[in-house]
Amino acid sequence: MASTKTNCLMEDIAPKTSPSPLDNIIMVAEKLAHLTCSPCFIGTWDGSTANIVYHPQKGDLPNNHMPAIQQACTTQKPVVDKDMGITCIPITNKPPDFFVEMEDAAELRKGDTYSSTSGFVYLTTTQNFDGLLAQIESINNFLASCLQFYSEFKMASTDKLTGALTRKFMDVALEECLKRAKANNKGFSIIMLDLDYFKHINDTYGHLVGDDVLRDVAKIIQNNLGIAHTLGRYGGEEFIIALEGAGTEKAAETADFLRTTLSNSKILGDKRDVTASLGIAAFPGHGNTVKELVDKADKALYAAKAAGRNKTIIWQEGLEGAKSKKRDRELFTGDIAKDALKMRSLYKIIGITTQNLTVQQRLAMCLDEARNILDASDLEFFAVEHNGEEGGVFNINSLARLGRNQDRFNDEIIQEVIKTQHTACLVDWDNKKIRTNDGIYDWQSIIAAPAMENGRVKGVLYAAIPIKVKEFTDYESGFASGVAAIISTMMG
Ligand code: GH3
Ligand code: MG
Ligand code: MG
Repeated sequence: MASTKTNCLMEDIAPKTSPSPLDNIIMVAEKLAHLTCSPCFIGTWDGSTANIVYHPQKGDLPNNHMPAIQQACTTQKPVVDKDMGITCIPITNKPPDFFVEMEDAAELRKGDTYSSTSGFVYLTTTQNFDGLLAQIESINNFLASCLQFYSEFKMASTDKLTGALTRKFMDVALEECLKRAKANNKGFSIIMLDLDYFKHINDTYGHLVGDDVLRDVAKIIQNNLGIAHTLGRYGGEEFIIALEGAGTEKAAETADFLRTTLSNSKILGDKRDVTASLGIAAFPGHGNTVKELVDKADKALYAAKAAGRNKTIIWQEGLEGAKSKKRDRELFTGDIAKDALKMRSLYKIIGITTQNLTVQQRLAMCLDEARNILDASDLEFFAVEHNGEEGGVFNINSLARLGRNQDRFNDEIIQEVIKTQHTACLVDWDNKKIRTNDGIYDWQSIIAAPAMENGRVKGVLYAAIPIKVKEFTDYESGFASGVAAIISTMMG
């Protein structure tokens, strides 16, 4: 009976589920691959495009796989292509009370369409189709919610300009890659890539052209790497690539292929070549932690810059002392109109601090002015009272604010800025206090800049904006640092 068999998959899977949707997707894919003795791919579907979330280490999708996926996802019916030897099964969001015998479910699936498709399972086999269908039916709802959660997570974690992962999520992805490499006893490499003389591109052709170049570079990297990679935007024009299953040699080959592809791709036409320098570090040879690997890839990258740029260098003993590329907060973008606006604004704020008004009044005017540049939804200045002990803080008082949503502020970020005495520019992924109308967390991009006096943080300028609207840049962070420094002169 199919139904006794079908129970097995959900029963097998249930005790192994994890809070991570990705881990669950991988677990299901591995299980299905084992069950069917054939490579299994699982991906998301956003209504028009498919994105592979899981692919087997050694497998590659048949070249012309897209039509089958497209057909399965849009018709919400399984596609079996005996000539290609593939089965593609849509994973659909169904009404929550859906519960029928598995044979019926298979019947239902043939006739009905459901509200939306969240992804698909793609198997490189056509055998035992009915049994397989019933098996997958039994986990449809589970897989659908994992895929949906994963898509939402991915959307929140993607850099809008380049489509690469944002730094925070790249850090998480790197940890996951390393964990998998350790569990499977496989290699894993990190490539750091920084564009050469990018400031010159901005200065010569303007910031918008610079942005286009960044977008094109990311696209070229994505198009020229195999499936088993993750791309993150680590700084302004610095990318990090995680290569799963790749040892030093494979990583070096890949990196150099990327380097030559970039320099040959005429991103700026005949104006000039766009080149990059790359540094590589590999697990397990070069380190056992993500931090160690990133650090070593960074040093190798710096060595590639020092060696004349447009080079790939693998980390090696002797590079320990190399400087890493510094990533300072910057105030000037090279866009003269924007920079002039910022300068004017800073002068105006200096003027405000000397006006004959109460501190609160002057602060409110400073915030109002700063908001013109930062475009923040909420902007607040907190005064910090120390209790005399080294680093001890007993009170953080809001002195002035613009905006309405108190929930956008995170005490922990303020505490961290007081401790590190450095400006933080980040997405506050820990704040789960606010949701949008559709129930998704309304993550905030935050700048928190210290107002220092005599080596102590006397206050914190705090700006917030939903990442759906925009993410603060390093330049805005540099500007906020300047404003906080000016405000500190009023703190007495
Ligand atoms: P190097 O070869 O040493 O890397 O020289 P570089 O000019 O590329 O120097 P660096 O990497 O330090 O400079 C990074 C520049 O990237 C600084 C900033 O002007 C620019 N940048 C950072 N983020 C963005 C962005 O989002 N858009 C644009 N257009 N430019 C950016
Ligand atoms: Mg650069
Ligand atoms: Mg750089």
